[in-house]
Amino acid sequence: MSADRNQQQTGRVKNPHRVVNICFLVVFICSTLLTWREMVVLEHAYVSSQRNTLDNIATALDRQLQQSIDNLIFFRNTMRYALQYPISTDKSRKAMAEFDALRQQPHWQIRLDPGRSMPLSGVSDDFVGANALLVRDEATMHSELSAALEFSYILELSDTRRDLQRRTYYVSRAGYYISSLPGKNDDSLIARYARQVSRPYFAQHDDRTNRSRALRWEHSWDPTRNKDQVITASVPLDYQNRWYGVLAMDFTIPAMNKFLASAMPEEDESTILLYDNKFNVIASTKPQNGSPQFTQSQFAEIARSMELSNEGELRMDGSFVTWDKLNTFDGVLIKVHTLDEGVRGEFGRISIVLLLLWLLFTLMLFGSWIVIRRLVNDMMSLQSRLTWRANYDTLTRLFNRGAFFEHAQTFAKECRMRAQPFSVIQLDLDHFKSINDRFGHDAGDRVLSHAAGIISGSLRGEDIAGRVGGEEFCVVLPGATMAQAGEVAERIRERLNVKELLIRNGDTLHISASFGVSSSQESGDYDFEHLQNVADGRLYKAKQGGRNQVCSDG
Ligand code: GH3
Ligand code: MG
Ligand code: MG
Repeated sequence: MSADRNQQQTGRVKNPHRVVNICFLVVFICSTLLTWREMVVLEHAYVSSQRNTLDNIATALDRQLQQSIDNLIFFRNTMRYALQYPISTDKSRKAMAEFDALRQQPHWQIRLDPGRSMPLSGVSDDFVGANALLVRDEATMHSELSAALEFSYILELSDTRRDLQRRTYYVSRAGYYISSLPGKNDDSLIARYARQVSRPYFAQHDDRTNRSRALRWEHSWDPTRNKDQVITASVPLDYQNRWYGVLAMDFTIPAMNKFLASAMPEEDESTILLYDNKFNVIASTKPQNGSPQFTQSQFAEIARSMELSNEGELRMDGSFVTWDKLNTFDGVLIKVHTLDEGVRGEFGRISIVLLLLWLLFTLMLFGSWIVIRRLVNDMMSLQSRLTWRANYDTLTRLFNRGAFFEHAQTFAKECRMRAQPFSVIQLDLDHFKSINDRFGHDAGDRVLSHAAGIISGSLRGEDIAGRVGGEEFCVVLPGATMAQAGEVAERIRERLNVKELLIRNGDTLHISASFGVSSSQESGDYDFEHLQNVADGRLYKAKQGGRNQVCSDG
């Protein structure tokens, strides 16, 4: 096998380690990209599931509130209609008479039809006179009373099990109210009426303040009075530019909490909070102390994103926050899903499994990378050992016969092309058989390796030596003239001969060799085998001539 061919063979897989590294790196990058892609898809699915849940709850709450609002508007329309077309029955006439009789009393109650209508609860003329907002206008008094009585009938139609509001009521500026929860006819009635007309929304339905006569929401939020917190939806009752009173509905916080909790999917551990427009919490699916708390800056961040859209999502302190403005109510529903809840949830579990699979795959990949690198290392060292053995003689570490001949022929050709001289030295150890016989085969081997060391140590940089027979060696000297080759041969001969070799048990021995030298200079022939034959013939002559000598001619 030639040196070129050796190079070609190793060149085929120039750097197997690099190839292995690149392959593994590509697999690692692909698996990581794939996992990352999966995570992104999962995250999108998570975000839309959060959004869907909140949207569903917001829609349900909106629908429920809208139904109540529709009822309120229906009640107002009915009362307006009654103001426009008052009906007069025996019952209403009796009620008017009763009112006229009772209106001076500090508190009074008129029940038109027990079991079918709600009572009218009122205060005295004096109470009305003392409050600038209130008035008993004699011209409209009776028509309003009959409209109120009609309202007291239809109030019975409201379904307390289906409705979210706890109570519905009409508070008249003329000093009375009708409520779905009327209360007793005692001193507490005065306080109840007083409280109703002193609530901020009542005065705000004044025709100058509420010019559009629109529905108003009020959250009577008092942090010290958790129990009585209510949200009130109210509309003014007007007819022919006269403001009669206010129709309202109270939604209690426990009812809202219950509604939110029941709308929440069972497996969802997150918290849904209902805030008013000033970010006061109204209702929550979790008890107040267990609910997540926002800082002012977080509220500011939510408020900023609320200016741009009706819904959105934000990441805050490891929580995922989704928000949705309500259509019916001037408030916002916020869903807070903490990291802990997220990890326990379905998406968290899938993400963890995905990450663990990626980790497992990466570890296995790393393990197989190490194994394959080791295999490649072993293969490479085996390959280089085999290559070396195919070319070299293991005892002398010189080229073996086959490799040497190939190299020698190549060098001969090159010299011919460059018109340089090309010389050959053939040498054979003298009486080597007797060394084997006297000192044993091992000693013979040591002598062979010693001789090879001396030969290769005596060569010029471009020369090569090979073991061509048992104790026969050959040297080719590209570019060397006959005289230079003779000098090299002489140098080797001298060095071999001068040294005394220690064999065993203090035995020493001298070795010598005989040399034959030939060169292309003699006949212009560059055929290596021919030149080697000539050198061999001269070697024979050197043996004949007494051994331990160089023969360069004849
Ligand atoms: P001459 O001076 O005429 O060359 O005599 P010689 O004894 O050297 O020649 P001969 O060709 O008769 O003997 C060569 C011997 O070399 C024969 C063989 O036993 C021995 N030999 C060949 N290869 C090896 C080897 O690898 N190791 C050892 N120890 N001996 C070897
Ligand atoms: Mg021989
Ligand atoms: Mg010999």
